[in-house]
Amino acid sequence: MNKHEGHLLNVHLNPNVSGLKPSATVAINDLSNELRQQGKEVYKLGLGQSPFPVPKPVVEALQKNAFQKDYLPVKGLRELQEAVAEHHCRTFGIETEPEDVLIGPGSKELMFLLQLTYYGDLVIPSPSWVSYAPQAKIIGREILFFPTSIENDWHLTPEELEKLCHIKKGSPRLLILNYPLNPSGTTISRDRLKDLAEIADRNRVVLLSDEIYGKIHHEGQHESIVPFYPEGTIFSGGLSKWCGAGGWRLGVFVFPRLMRWLLDAMAAVGTETFTSTSAPIQYAAIRAFKEGPDIDDYLKRSRRIVKALGNHISRKLEDVGAMIRYPHGGFYIFPDFSSFKEKFMTRKIRTSEEMCRRLLEDTGVAMLPGSNFGRQPEEMTARIAYVDFDGKSALEAVKSVPEDRPPNEEFLKTYCRNVLKAIDRMIEWIHT
Ligand code: GLU
Repeated sequence: MNKHEGHLLNVHLNPNVSGLKPSATVAINDLSNELRQQGKEVYKLGLGQSPFPVPKPVVEALQKNAFQKDYLPVKGLRELQEAVAEHHCRTFGIETEPEDVLIGPGSKELMFLLQLTYYGDLVIPSPSWVSYAPQAKIIGREILFFPTSIENDWHLTPEELEKLCHIKKGSPRLLILNYPLNPSGTTISRDRLKDLAEIADRNRVVLLSDEIYGKIHHEGQHESIVPFYPEGTIFSGGLSKWCGAGGWRLGVFVFPRLMRWLLDAMAAVGTETFTSTSAPIQYAAIRAFKEGPDIDDYLKRSRRIVKALGNHISRKLEDVGAMIRYPHGGFYIFPDFSSFKEKFMTRKIRTSEEMCRRLLEDTGVAMLPGSNFGRQPEEMTARIAYVDFDGKSALEAVKSVPEDRPPNEEFLKTYCRNVLKAIDRMIEWIHT
């Protein structure tokens, strides 16, 4: 043993990160890629990555700006802040200034900075996205989990929110709402958003409204809670999902005027951590947020495909006995396979994690267990990200499907083949 070894082997981990594993979404993607590299057949329904290419005009804007090399202001390029503010105003009808906008290297990073900067408990309905809770744990924040139910489309009801406000009444808290929801694709109706907003407002709860899947609402009719509680809602969005640009890492937050202090504090932490978001990506993002007919058309075609596919596979799983809510947006479904519990028991499958592990081993279908989304381990839920197909050819092909008709099964079999095959394999596996 050399003189340093004893010291280096002595593990000095921050207790908040001891036992922390890589994020489930990232880990399943790495594992799926590794298995594919080993020559195994893998159906990648794990990571929630858009199957569609970045729209052409946005790619062209990036090409034109590849030379941009300077550090940009930590809060974001002024022209991009303006484009996001205009977009916000146009979409939600609320007055927004460029100064209300914070740009970051992915909304995931901004959420982490928000939790670090805002001093209060975190309230997370479950199921919800895999990273909210680990971020709070890393920072050392209290987390209040609030389980929802399939009967309520996996969303918090106004009655539940009211109850929640009475726990540790008066203490500062941040409630995360996400709709269309990752992992179920279900969204919250306008009336319900209004009720939730009224309760949050009355109880002074700060909302983080994660609307990253809003633009891929399957009917193009996403509603935001922001107009119903503009004083206390922080909006979160970005390019990853609707613009097919997950790897570009560009997220946006829009703050209420009264919460400029929080934006400023996050930006100050930003100067000590990421400095500024990639310059060429920010220039390209201006084009994306300006929208226009070509981007509208891209979105319309994307929605038609994910809607038809989501409905088709939901129906297939429902027909064999899974409980499911049909998705309203995005590209996830969250079936509950609890009706097969006894059958699974005989195969020594007791938890959703075991179910997903065995399914992957036996069939090559990768999906994520409900326990990764905050559900009880024994509940047989799982998230299916129905994205394993070539979005570019599907987008092209859907042009010739008459607009008054959804792409049919034949279309899905041709252009979303892997997803359909994966569902067939899953059903076969359940019945073995
Ligand atoms: N949000 C996506 C997912 O849930 C992408 C990966 C991530 O978690 O950052 O799969």
